[in-house]
Amino acid sequence: MIDPIKAEMGRGPGEDALGDMPEAEIRPGARAVADWIADYLTGVADYPVLARVKPGEIRERLPAFMPEKGEPFSAMMKDFQEIILPGVTHWNHPGFFAYFSITGSAPGVFGEMLASALNVNAMVWRSSPVGTELEEQTLSWLRDLLGLPDFFDGTINDTASSSTLYALAAAREEKLPEAADLGLSAAPRGRFYTSEQAHSSVEKAVITLGFGRQGTRLIPTDDVFRMVPSELKKAVEEDLEAGIRPLGVVATLGTTSTTSVDPIADIVEIARDYNLWLHVDAAYGGPAAAVPEFRPLFSGWEHADSIVVNPHKWLFTPIDCSVLYVRDPEQLRRAFSLTPEYLTTSETGKARNLMDFGVSLGRRFRSLKLWFVLRYFGVEGVRNRIRHHVAMAREVASWVDAAPDWERMAPVPFSTVVIRFAPEGCSPEEQDHLNRSIMDYVNETGEFFLSHTVLNGVVCLRVALGNLRTRWEHLHRFWELLLLAAEEVSSKD
Ligand code: PLP
Repeated sequence: MIDPIKAEMGRGPGEDALGDMPEAEIRPGARAVADWIADYLTGVADYPVLARVKPGEIRERLPAFMPEKGEPFSAMMKDFQEIILPGVTHWNHPGFFAYFSITGSAPGVFGEMLASALNVNAMVWRSSPVGTELEEQTLSWLRDLLGLPDFFDGTINDTASSSTLYALAAAREEKLPEAADLGLSAAPRGRFYTSEQAHSSVEKAVITLGFGRQGTRLIPTDDVFRMVPSELKKAVEEDLEAGIRPLGVVATLGTTSTTSVDPIADIVEIARDYNLWLHVDAAYGGPAAAVPEFRPLFSGWEHADSIVVNPHKWLFTPIDCSVLYVRDPEQLRRAFSLTPEYLTTSETGKARNLMDFGVSLGRRFRSLKLWFVLRYFGVEGVRNRIRHHVAMAREVASWVDAAPDWERMAPVPFSTVVIRFAPEGCSPEEQDHLNRSIMDYVNETGEFFLSHTVLNGVVCLRVALGNLRTRWEHLHRFWELLLLAAEEVSSKD
């Protein structure tokens, strides 16, 4: 029964219990979260960088069932501190040198918080005009920062894996139009090419697009892990001979294991000669193009059909934020545009609808955090931070080069150094074991987090720099610890 008096006042019985958290709780809750974030970002170095928990441990500590009645926010914050935090590996920690070291900067976090509060879904222009237009503008800033020609048009996706998938879907649309209506069953066999050092997301995209595991040919690399153009050409010609249609090539500028840079200018020529789609994976390395002295590494990428750069890797933007630039947005739109009646609007044709550029209909307001990051640091601030990371990586490389028993396994074009402890008199297997033990030793200290890779069949350690909080003092401490770890594990074996 509706209480007529309350209804008259615009509120039905019990409606207080039907809405969001009341204002009296929102304000202290928001302050508590903001304070916690400020403490965290300024004190993250005090945590052990790598979570010290065993598989299943966090799950066991979590309540088994959802509460029947809602709980106060303070209870959640308490559990956040006591249960959730111990299970966090701290990517913002100055000693995070694993994978690709990335940082969510404070301006980026603020942008993320505001975007989350707004909770807009920028699927079509009308569903939040600023979601579309800020993305367009921010990505034109980023394009200029990276020195790309202004015909490149960007959209933001969650990850590079999605961006590459979308780029290769556009490639399929362009280079295998027979598949557009009836799918691959109506089309000749197609093939994509990428190097043996390319990220697995390339093969995953090709599989997802229906070409199967054999839809990708991995091209051999040279002694510094770059794609060999003559091998690419040979593979394309062999496929043509065998009746397989070459569709596209993915060149990587900053590979995952060693950050090697494929010879893009030669690959551009081959792509041109054989009518291949050229996608550039600069997910990690791309931000270095902001720095004039590193830009020659990218020379030729302006001829690509599509390029992926991840601001969430080396551009201080909280995950997730991956930018896909395409030479011709119509090509991407053709691959993905399919508008159900309920999403048609009077602005169609006059404004961009982000849903037309990928699989997802819904789009987060990701450009806000990137815009905050670019504004806060500015061109100069971005350049200087990237320069600093590269300078630190080169310093580590020089220490390794001068240290007996240590080897540097690859050149250092960016901010990642790949090394191996290789004492004389030990077999390669013994050396592998020592390197894994060194990694475990360092990781157990909680001061630094290292990850590994395998190059030419041997285990190597990767020292990835890219964190805003890493200072020279951390680097000196790391080197000291690494040498100690090598000494300790050698004396045990
Ligand atoms: N490309 C390169 C070169 C990478 O190193 C990675 C991940 O590290 C990816 C693509 C995939 O990135 P994401 O996690 O954004 O899908």
